[in-house]
Amino acid sequence: MKQHIIYAHKAFIDGKFDENVTIRIIGDKIASVTKERVPGFGSYISIGPGYALLPAFVDTHTHMIGRGLHLVRPKLDKARTLKDALEVVEQAVKNYDLSEVVIIEGYDESFWPEGRAPTRQELDQVAPARPVVLRRICGHIGVANSKALSMIPIETPGVDRRGGLLVETVPLNISDYFPPTDKELQAALSAAQKEFWSLGIGTVSEFGKWEFMRVYQEALRKRQLKIRVYFSYYLELFDAIKRLGLQSGFGDSYLRIGGIKLFADGSVGARTAAFFDPYNDDPENFGKLFFDAKRIADIIRLAEEAGLQVIIHAIGDRAIEAAIDGISHGTDGNKNMLHHRIEHFEFPTKGQIERAASLNIRISIQPNFAVRWGVPNGMYEKRLGKERMYRNNPIKSLIDSGVKFAFGSDAMPPSPALGIKAAMMHPIPRERIDMETGIRLYTEAAQDLMFMPGIGKIQRGYFADFIIVKLIDLSVQALAIGGDFVYMVPEYRNLFRV
Ligand SMILES: [Zn+2]
Repeated sequence: MKQHIIYAHKAFIDGKFDENVTIRIIGDKIASVTKERVPGFGSYISIGPGYALLPAFVDTHTHMIGRGLHLVRPKLDKARTLKDALEVVEQAVKNYDLSEVVIIEGYDESFWPEGRAPTRQELDQVAPARPVVLRRICGHIGVANSKALSMIPIETPGVDRRGGLLVETVPLNISDYFPPTDKELQAALSAAQKEFWSLGIGTVSEFGKWEFMRVYQEALRKRQLKIRVYFSYYLELFDAIKRLGLQSGFGDSYLRIGGIKLFADGSVGARTAAFFDPYNDDPENFGKLFFDAKRIADIIRLAEEAGLQVIIHAIGDRAIEAAIDGISHGTDGNKNMLHHRIEHFEFPTKGQIERAASLNIRISIQPNFAVRWGVPNGMYEKRLGKERMYRNNPIKSLIDSGVKFAFGSDAMPPSPALGIKAAMMHPIPRERIDMETGIRLYTEAAQDLMFMPGIGKIQRGYFADFIIVKLIDLSVQALAIGGDFVYMVPEYRNLFRV
């Protein structure tokens, strides 16, 4: 069996840095963590000053295959003119079979001298044979050629059949209208896995439908899945999963069934996150509550019978209230044994934070959102006003309340180091945390959110999933999953004497 012995000048043990630690790895597990040097066989790795050994990061809310699709699809972000863009389209379609739909991401016509997107007719000229859809950088708008238009059902809203313009429905739900092929999904998984490795991610909480699960299983069978996946299904499959008797935590150490995901509201950007008070820039609008407390409680009760965790997307305070009430009524005082979760939890009131803590509700929060939209004069302030903006992503308040929560990226972008730095430099100073707390929230704290034993800690009996980082910026130098190095910067061997 393979063995490594690691001498770390600095290592992250039990939620904080410790010095001069020896870690012995046998097979895919950590066999011991001690302060003395231990003799043994196998490779010796020495991690010197300036570097540290950390558990591999756990991203408790991401979209790995979704991110992968973005990585593998052709992009228009470098096109400087409409003419450029059409050339990119003409070249890109040549790599696809005639039966495949070509989705091209990321155009931004506001930078083009023509000042407009291509039309259906212009796309037909450069790509007559295959269905082609361009998606604008925002994801809310797109253009289709004639072939692609003919594949969109006739009653679909937001489709201009004449010019090919697509607004909201189709571009936002592009995979429902143009489902990716298995080949595309496999390429996406492999591209995302590579990117996630380079960011030090060892485990993800992923969401999707049956097609994604199939691709994960295929990768597992081929021994290509070297990232641990906790896979939660969207609500539409609840009944099927329940009838099959699948429960949260079923699977093996690389692929387990997670929970059932539902959306209680939308997003602040689209003004669909549900609030008690109206939007500042749209005074009639309180957002959209897709599920009220009663319906959430009904779902929780069914999930409790089935042994399934429920994962509720809730951003605005009105949606958060519905989620908390729903979990409270649905679990009926059982202390939330199934770890029902609220995702994002971006604008809770003080009272809601306290209730979530007392009901033992688990929370996945995205620290990167705070620096992306939660800065003064940023998108949150425009939509919600100053006062509410100051309530965004209250990380330190969550710590103080004792609620069990962890970090996730939502793949926007998928970088734990960036998220930890965002939490350390939170735009609202009273919500800032230190680096050790940030690392804990991106590693061991994840255990409270998923049924995935043996991850997130450098501790005897845990999986040997670890990273070596540069302390100054947390940049990842190497990642091992189950004791095997899957990623390493080129200079690694000189730095660490493997
Ligand atoms: Zn998400």
